[in-house]
Amino acid sequence: MIGDIEVRDAGRKGKGVFARRGFRRGEFIFRRRHARVVPNSAIRSLTREERRHLCELDRDRSAVLVGAGAFLNHSCEPNAMRSGTTVFAWRPIRAGDEITIDYRLNAFTGERSRCLCGTRRCTGTIRLDFFSLDPATQRAYLPYAPAFIRREYRSRARAKGSARAS
Ligand SMILES: [Zn+2]
Repeated sequence: MIGDIEVRDAGRKGKGVFARRGFRRGEFIFRRRHARVVPNSAIRSLTREERRHLCELDRDRSAVLVGAGAFLNHSCEPNAMRSGTTVFAWRPIRAGDEITIDYRLNAFTGERSRCLCGTRRCTGTIRLDFFSLDPATQRAYLPYAPAFIRREYRSRARAKGSARAS
């Protein structure tokens, strides 16, 4: 619920979302809010603030995030997972922890982005592409990934399968 989290300063990352109580693994945390959905071709017409808080829904459309959900930061070892607008604990979270998700879950542009998450697995940059994740992480994230990513995963798996068979 929204009272279980707060948005505050997250140091070099700007603002972040923090837990106000502990969450068990798998526990629902809060729902992100979409102000509106825009075709990707219209992104240039958005305000700078709106462009900073976009979530790609698929290859053609993005959602403009409002409220706390707009301030969820990325981590290469996230403690939360998002599926659609639902955010839940991926690992146990303690009161006071910053809540983070992995931006690669729904990413496809391949853009490189500087990462300040500081976790052990972090190399300092991320490639915004689900398929840049290692195979085990792809399998773990897949059930929560948007449909267009799941479809591409299946078609890549089939292509690999037929390459092996020939
Ligand atoms: Zn990182």
